[in-house]
Amino acid sequence: MSMNNVGRQTTPNATAPGAAKTTFTGNQALAIEEPLLFEVGRLDVTGVDIDAPEAFEDALGGLGRTSAINLPGLTEPEAMRHYVRLSRQNYAIDLGLYPLGSCTMKHNPRLNEAMARLPGFADVHPLQPLSTVEGAIDLVAECGRWLLELTGMASVAMSPKAGAHGEMCGMAAIKAAIAARGENRDVVLVPDSAHGTNPATAALLGFKVVSVPARADGTVDPAEVKTRLGPDVAAIMLTNPNTCGLFERDIVEIAEAVHAAGAYFYADGANFNAIVGKARPGDLGVDAMHINLHKTFSTPHGGGGPGAGPVVLSDRLAPFAPVPFVQFKADGSAEFVETRKIAETLGAKPFGRITAFHGQMGMFVRALTYMLSHGGDGLRQASEDAVLAANYVKARLGSVMSVAFPERPAMHEVLFNDSFLEGTGVTTLDFAKAMIDEGYHPMTMYFPLVVHGALLIEPTESESKASLDQFIGTLESLALKAKAGDVEMFKAAPVFAPRKRVDETLAARQPKLTYAG
Ligand SMILES: *Cc1c(COP(=O)(O)O)cnc(C)c1O
Repeated sequence: MSMNNVGRQTTPNATAPGAAKTTFTGNQALAIEEPLLFEVGRLDVTGVDIDAPEAFEDALGGLGRTSAINLPGLTEPEAMRHYVRLSRQNYAIDLGLYPLGSCTMKHNPRLNEAMARLPGFADVHPLQPLSTVEGAIDLVAECGRWLLELTGMASVAMSPKAGAHGEMCGMAAIKAAIAARGENRDVVLVPDSAHGTNPATAALLGFKVVSVPARADGTVDPAEVKTRLGPDVAAIMLTNPNTCGLFERDIVEIAEAVHAAGAYFYADGANFNAIVGKARPGDLGVDAMHINLHKTFSTPHGGGGPGAGPVVLSDRLAPFAPVPFVQFKADGSAEFVETRKIAETLGAKPFGRITAFHGQMGMFVRALTYMLSHGGDGLRQASEDAVLAANYVKARLGSVMSVAFPERPAMHEVLFNDSFLEGTGVTTLDFAKAMIDEGYHPMTMYFPLVVHGALLIEPTESESKASLDQFIGTLESLALKAKAGDVEMFKAAPVFAPRKRVDETLAARQPKLTYAG
C-alpha cells in the first residue's frame, strides 16, 4: 500500500483555526492541525486494491444504490493517522484528573481489560446455544450476585445498557406492578436537584412529572414529599447521595411515606460510589435502582466504551423484571430465563424485553473483575477514599471558592456556587474554560439547577494527594486571578486548546452534520 498525499496542503496554512501562523503546516510541534476525513481523502480514489468484480447478478431486486456513496478514499496510514491525531486532541481519564461531578470518572484498571479480552468472554456470540456459554452465564450471574449483595435487594435485571436505560427498565417494572394491581397512578415525583434523565424517563413512560423543591440545605424535605403524595402517585425518583453531593438523611422517612401512599421508591444509583459497602439501598426502602457499572464499577465511559446499567429490584418488583433474567436455583447455580413464556411458568410477569440480548458482556467481565480484585473491604475503602478526596477539595478550596452547602459533609462530590465570582465579571463558564488551558477537563457546570452557577467537582478515589494538590492549587490560582480582575484572560480562554472558545449555543442550535464541499 502506498501512502498518497491527497488532500494535504502544499501551501502555507494561514487559516487553520488553531494554528500558529508562523509554521508552514499550521501545526505546533505535536499539536497537529487535522483536516476532516473528506479533506484528507478523495472521492475518486480508494485505499482498497481488490479488483472490481466481474459482472455479477445481485440479489437486491433492483434496490441497489445507483448514486455515488460519496465516501472519501483513504489509505490505511491516512485513516490511522487521522484518528490517532484526533485522539491526541481529546481528554481522557488516562491523561489526567477528570473532575466531572456525578459522572464518577475513575481509573479503569488494566486488569479489567485483560480479563475482558480472554477469548471465552470476548468471542462469545449472543445467539450461541446456552449450553456452549455456561461459563459466561455464570459470570453474568456472579456479577449480579455481587450487585445484590452490595445493594441488599432481591433481584437484578442485567440487560439495560446505561443508567438512563436502567431508569426506563425500573420505571417500566413499576408501571407494570401498578397495572397488575388494577390501579391507575400517573404521577411521578422528582426533586429539583434530579438529573434530567429522571423526569425524561418518567415522561417517556407516560407519567406526569411533579417536582419537589429542595430545602435550603440542599436535601429533600419529607414534608414536601408528603404533601404531594396521593392515590395518583406511582413513584418518587430520588438520587442518594443527591447531585449536590449530600446524603439524603431523611431517606427512610421518605421511603416509608411513599410506601404508605401505595407508591414505589425508584433510586437513581448513579452516585452509588459514595456508599458502596457503607449503606445498602435495600435497607433504606428502595424498590428499584440502576447501577452505572461505568461509574461505580470502573468500566470505561465518556467515549471509552459502552455503558451498562443493571437494575436491582425489591421483592415487590422482582416478578416484573424484563426477560432475559438470571434465575438462581436452590443449589446456587444460575440460568437465564430467556422468554416471557418460560418466565410465566415460573410465576413471573415480565413487563417485556428491554434489549435484544443479555446486556454488555464485556462490561460485566470488567465490573466483576473490579469487584473481585477489591473484595468487600476494598470496595468499602474505595467509597471512603472517594468521600475523603471530595472533602479534602472542599476543605482546601472553601476559603477561595464558595461551597454551596458548607455545613453538611460532602459525600463523593462537592458543589460550589458562583458567589465567589460575584462582581469579577467572570462567569462559571469562563472559569471552566480557563481550566482547559491549565490542562484539566472542567468539572460539571450549571448542574444541579438548585444553586446559581453550579460547579460540581468529583475527584474520585483514583487521585493521589499530589494530584489533588495540583488540581486544588490550579483552582485556587484561577479564583485569585478572577478576584484580581484578570477578566480578559478568562474571556479569551481557552487559548491553548486546538479550537479556542467555540460558540456552543450556535453549534447546538444549528449543528452542521454533513460535509458540504
Ligand atoms: C450519569 C447519570 C445518569 C444517567 O446515566 P447514564 O449511564 O449516563 O445514562 C442519571 N442520573 C445521574 C445522577 C447521573 O449522574
